[in-house]
Parts: sequence; structure tokens; C-alpha cells
Amino acid sequence: MSIQITPQAEVRELTRLERCAAHSHIRGLGLDDALEPRKGGSQGMVGQPKARRAVGVIYKMIQEGKIGGRAILLAGKPGSGKTAIAMGLAQELGSDTPFTTMSGSEVFSLEMSKTEALTQAFRKSIGIRILEETEVIEGEVVEIQVDTALNKGNMDKTGRLTLCTTEMETVYDLGTKMIDALQKEKVSAGDVITIDKASGKITKLGRSFSRSRDYDAMGGQTRFVQCPEGELQKRKEVVHTVSLHEIDVINSRQQGFLALFTGDTGEIKGEVREQIDLKVAEWREEGRATIVPGVLFIDEVHMLDMECFSFLNRALESDMAPVLVIATNRGISKIRGTDYKSPHGIPLDLLDRLMIVSTEAYKPDEVQSILKVRCEEEDVEMAEDALELLTRIGMETSLRYAIQMVIAASLVAEKRKSAEVEIQDIKRVYTLFVDVKRSTQFLMEYQNEYMYNELGEGEDEED
Ligand code: ATP
Repeated sequence: MSIQITPQAEVRELTRLERCAAHSHIRGLGLDDALEPRKGGSQGMVGQPKARRAVGVIYKMIQEGKIGGRAILLAGKPGSGKTAIAMGLAQELGSDTPFTTMSGSEVFSLEMSKTEALTQAFRKSIGIRILEETEVIEGEVVEIQVDTALNKGNMDKTGRLTLCTTEMETVYDLGTKMIDALQKEKVSAGDVITIDKASGKITKLGRSFSRSRDYDAMGGQTRFVQCPEGELQKRKEVVHTVSLHEIDVINSRQQGFLALFTGDTGEIKGEVREQIDLKVAEWREEGRATIVPGVLFIDEVHMLDMECFSFLNRALESDMAPVLVIATNRGISKIRGTDYKSPHGIPLDLLDRLMIVSTEAYKPDEVQSILKVRCEEEDVEMAEDALELLTRIGMETSLRYAIQMVIAASLVAEKRKSAEVEIQDIKRVYTLFVDVKRSTQFLMEYQNEYMYNELGEGEDEED
């Protein structure tokens, strides 16, 4: 089977939506060359020195290609920056290292089995750097024969291009794409051009001055005799980095490469994957491909069940396995779907192979710095005293609640035509939107007036 690695169609690049997402202020781990956290925060990252140091070591190991098949657990209270640190790692690694992010709950869907969803996530996180040698043909244009129908604007018709190379004559059937390229490069008979055999790309190198001749442009007749000198056939090296999952989808007859853009890949047959793995192994042996183990980040990992955990255990043993980073805010809790309790809701055998990094609660000055970074990110001007009040609120409620108040307070300030958020705006938002503590208190006081309030005391509402 010949394995295809790139889609054979031109796809317009999608314009990215500019949005201010929860972690858009994170631009890296904020470490210096010695992998020490920079003082006062850097790259949007504040505090959590221990966790950042630990993830910095992991970063270096991934970058040097020293690890694969390792698993790291980020454990800590809600809002303590676990996801932020994982995003920082992704930014540090850059776009050349595949980084896949998913939440534990995403494996449960009607479209595919849990293990298929995890397999796809794993294979999205494994990059294959493929070295391709493409042949470039260089020669002088002898003749361009264009179908007469084409001249009338019927672009379905093709013609022929005759080049003079060392093989004396190379004839090409012109697809409409190539005719377009010829027209774009304003190629006419007598020009010296190169054609990339794989992509069909035409580059004009100049005119041949060796002989005088009388050529017509497109649609001209053969009048050429002699071959130009020099090296006419060249080899060019092209490096593609694609994920194993992309190769799977492109070669899956059921899906076709368009599924890559819709995301609607469905299940991929085991045989397709087996053949691709064999082919990749072959390429590796021939020195044509190298594996780039990336990172698979699974947030809310306690949402996975036994079947998924056992899959992870096994998948990590593969020699192509990426680095697995998982995060949870659970303490000792039930493993989903069982009555067994375990630290972080993760089975002991998986826990045993994890490198655990814990995040700590933030101090007031750290909360203040994070809020300041968010104000900058969201383009919000905030008075010093308002920021201090927001910091106090953040300490007493949660960092997330305080972060969410930033944009709401700025809208309130805007409403009263002030360019700066002041204390009164923070107070207004604080009364408009309750935090979890106040909402719970309200529920306790008025629970009889709500529906389904039968939850008895001490009853556990765990899933
Ligand atoms: P959960 O357990 O609820 O998923 P979490 O530990 O993953 O929480 P995050 O989502 O990372 O917490 O943090 C909450 C918000 O605070 C995010 O917007 C995040 O970007 C920001 N944040 C957290 N820690 C830091 C930090 N150290 N530096 C900068 N921003 C941070």
C-alpha cells in the first residue's frame, strides 16, 4: 500500500478568531536559561515556582527528545494554575512539537468508543518528520501545446508541455493547475524552468540565450533543436511534519482527508493503523523519517473510567508514545464507575508510574499579579485601590471568580463613561454576580423553596 502523507488539494488557510480565552495571557513557563522561574512573573506566568521548575525539567527532556511514554500528573486545588502550566509548556515547545489538549469527559461520545477517542488523541500527539526527496526537472521550454478548447476558456481540457532536458525531451501532460502556473509565471517557449515533480510547482529561471529562435507563446509550435547545458535533473529535500493521526485519516478510505478539516473522523480501522505503523517503521529504518514524541494533555482526568486508565497504562508502553500530562483537582475519590476510592480518583497502578507535580494555593501578591496580567490581556485600565479590592475578593472567593469580574467591571465602568475601573464598579459587579460561597449560603437558607431539595444531610452527591 502506498501511504499518502499530505492531502492532495489546496486548502485555504482559515482565519483565526482573535479571542481572549482563559489562558491567552500565558506565553510560556516564564523560566530563565537555568530553568529558574523569573522573578515577578514572566510570559504571563506568576508564582507556582516549584511546579514551574519541575515542568521546566520535563520541557527540557521533551525538547531533547529524551523522553517518551512518561506520564506527569499535575495535582492541586481548583484554579491553582494546572491548566495554565500545561499551556505554558505547550507554548514553550512551539508549533513543531505536537501538543494535544482534551478533557477527560471528551472520550465519552456516541460517535466512537472511548478507546478509539484516546487512540486518536495519542496519535495526534505523535509527530512524524518525513524527509522527502522530490525530483526537480529543469529544462528549456520547447513547446506548449494547449488544447484549442482551453483557449476558449474551457479549463477542463489539458495540453502538453515539451521541455528539453538531458534526456533530450521530456513531455508533460498539463493539468489545468499547471497551465495556471505557467500563465502565472508568464512562461513561454524559450524559457528555462524547473518543475517540482511532486507538487507540480513551476519556477521560471530565465531565458535561454544560447540560440536565437522564433517561438510562439502558449500554443506555439515545436521549433527547438538543441539541448541546454548543465545539470538538468536535481534532487530537492523537503521535510514534512505530520501527526500519525493525520496520516491515518488521509489514508482511511472511509474518511478521506477532508475529515481533517471538519474534525468528523469517526472510527479508523485497525488495519489502516497497522499498515501505517509498518510503513513508518520502514521509513525510520531507511532514515527517511524520525518520530517527534509530542504531548497529550488530559485535563479533568478523574472523568476517565477503569477501561480508559488501563488503556493509558498500556499505550504508554509503545515505543512511539508521547509524553502524557494529566491534571486533576480531586483528592481521595472514587474511580469513575467503581466503588473503589483512590488518590485523585486514579487507579494505583497508573499512579505508580506517574511523576507527580503539585500546585499550591496562591498568596495575595500572586493573585494580584495574575489579576494585573489579566487586566493587561483584556485591555482594562484599573485603579490601584480597585485592584486591591479585587485581590481581596479573589482571596476570599476564588481566583477564577475575580478574573471573570475584570471584564464585567470594565463594562460597568464604560457604562458610566469612565475609562478606568474603580472601586464602585467592582462593588457593583460583586453584587450583581454571586460567587460559589454566597450561592451555597443562599441555597442553605432557602433550599425549601427550590425543586428537588430532598438531599439529606451528609448525603454525597458524587457522580
Ligand atoms: P481546575 O482544577 O479547576 O481545572 P486549574 O488548576 O487548571 O483549575 P487554571 O484554569 O489553570 O486552574 O487557572 C484559573 C485561571 O487563572 C486561568 O485563567 C489561568 O490562566 C489563571 N492562572 C492560574 N495560575 C496562574 C499563574 N500561575 N500565572 C498566570 N495565570 C494563572
